[in-house]
Amino acid sequence: MIILMNKRLIKIGFLFLLLLFSKINMSQNFEKCGSMLLLQKAMKENNQIESKRNLINQKVYAESMSNVTIPVVVHVVYSNAQNNISDSRIFSQIQVLNEDFRRTNSDAINTPSQFQSVVADMSINFCLASKDPDGNPTNGIIRKFTNKSGFSLYDTTIHYNATGGSDAWDSDKYLNIWVCNINGGILGWAQFPYAGTKETDGVVINYDNFGINLNYSSAYKLGRTTTHEVGHWLNLFHVWGDNTCGDDFVFDTPTQEQANYGCKIHPHISCQNSGDMFMNFMDYSDDDCMNSFTNGQKSRAWNCLLNYRDKIFISDGCDTTNFSMSCDASIESIIHPLSNDSICDQKIYPAIVIKNNSSDPMYTLDINYRLNGQQYTYQSWSGNLSQNMSDTVYLASLKNLQNNNILEIEVSLPNSKIDLDFSNNFLSTNYYSNIGRTVNIQVQTDNYAQENQWYLYKEVNNSIIDSGVVLNNNTLYEREYCLTQGCYHFVIFDSGNDGICCNFGNGYFNAFFGDSLIGSGGSFINIDSLSFCISNENQTTNLNNLHDPVLDIYPNPASENLFFKLKSQITINNPIFVGIYDIAGKKILTKKITSNNLNISSLENGVYVLFINIDSTQHTTKFVKNK
Ligand SMILES: [Zn+2]
Repeated sequence: MIILMNKRLIKIGFLFLLLLFSKINMSQNFEKCGSMLLLQKAMKENNQIESKRNLINQKVYAESMSNVTIPVVVHVVYSNAQNNISDSRIFSQIQVLNEDFRRTNSDAINTPSQFQSVVADMSINFCLASKDPDGNPTNGIIRKFTNKSGFSLYDTTIHYNATGGSDAWDSDKYLNIWVCNINGGILGWAQFPYAGTKETDGVVINYDNFGINLNYSSAYKLGRTTTHEVGHWLNLFHVWGDNTCGDDFVFDTPTQEQANYGCKIHPHISCQNSGDMFMNFMDYSDDDCMNSFTNGQKSRAWNCLLNYRDKIFISDGCDTTNFSMSCDASIESIIHPLSNDSICDQKIYPAIVIKNNSSDPMYTLDINYRLNGQQYTYQSWSGNLSQNMSDTVYLASLKNLQNNNILEIEVSLPNSKIDLDFSNNFLSTNYYSNIGRTVNIQVQTDNYAQENQWYLYKEVNNSIIDSGVVLNNNTLYEREYCLTQGCYHFVIFDSGNDGICCNFGNGYFNAFFGDSLIGSGGSFINIDSLSFCISNENQTTNLNNLHDPVLDIYPNPASENLFFKLKSQITINNPIFVGIYDIAGKKILTKKITSNNLNISSLENGVYVLFINIDSTQHTTKFVKNK
């Protein structure tokens, strides 16, 4: 059973047609192709189309039939992994088109000798577009996810982004091929050149039938569905003329009674011909049974190209000449931060190496970079780099907002032109941020370093961050710390009571935040210290010197030794008396101390009050004992 295209059926209407479809799908002779149905519907809706069709149906030779290459854009409109077909499937389809339309297909030898004189090289080539309508490089493949599980004939939603499909590229200059799941058993359809809008112009192919798909258990898995539909797109009709012994308006295809399915044996005679041309691409035979176009079809297709699709000849969709390799910049490396770096500061100052790979000098480059998938920050580079030269670029800072960070950097548009090789334009790195500030401490010892020791404490948890207890004479100790929010104390002792400057050598100590000096010293008697805090306000860090209090103890909490920093000197000749009371006021101990520290290792954990008598004035402070 086949569908006969006549006026009566058209009047029955579209709904009945669909019903008919679902029935004939069950039989072997189902309607593979929706193109003629689509044309009939268009003619019904617009009576000018029929006259246009009649005009182009003249059986004439085309005036000029030199080679043409048609730029193709493939819209893969997918709803799952299965119909998101691979690039290689797409490449295989383009190859099949090129072979079939140039008669370089390996099965061309199967054409019966009776037809050898009429079969044709169509002189039509295809490329996957290399340049998009905006002039940018492309691979000619668009992938769009859709929520729709399938698309139906007469349903134009496949042609628009807004309706779950994909917008056509300028169909005057590109052959648009939509690949999707087609409902209703149809393998594909095409729009005839005079029978629809630019937005819907092109061909639609069921994903399983697109390209060479050998895993598919169907007779239509060798890409011939697309060859057939592109034939329609070039105004070719079915060889049986969609009527019993109908006319396809081609002079060298035999009149045949109806569509052929499967693979007939030549000669398969009908309509008093000497054999159907069932191996013609415009019949319904199995993919491995069809292998030919004819000279008449070539003339008809070229008439279509010359009269209806002539802008194809001026399309630059296959052009790559403007994308010379003289436009290739690359990002060679991220030199800061390095992978897995631990960064102290709240901000990161990325640095990269860029390179000009082109023969032309590079004067400008766009750089976009971001942290953790947030919005890109843009920075432009300008300079003068000859071929294979590189430059280090320091980028404006980004704020670290979390401990574990991913930095992504992309370069583009060297000299404001399209970069042809995208593969070397992007790098990323991960690093850790402590969200603190970098503090540097220098201690230069004198001739008697064995008299000295120093400690850096964090006030709150009493942690000794670092210490220098065994020191060499006349040596510079330089330490860098990443310090988080809180207050810190650097304290240095000299058991010889002569400081580290300047009687027996020129020692000193300095503490820096970045380039700014927190404090320094060296000329002291028994003890000196620096106190500073790092606060966190509005994402910026302030560094404050603390003024020396009258009574200053370190560390707090303390575990073993409580150190004193006093304005007055503590020596054997000038001892001071201290008292320690618990929080309830009970005296725990009193002691005369002759050095700057008090051993409290015998105390239980807890909060204590320290009394000290200085200059006839009693001072108190609380401290915490914590083992
Ligand atoms: Zn067809």
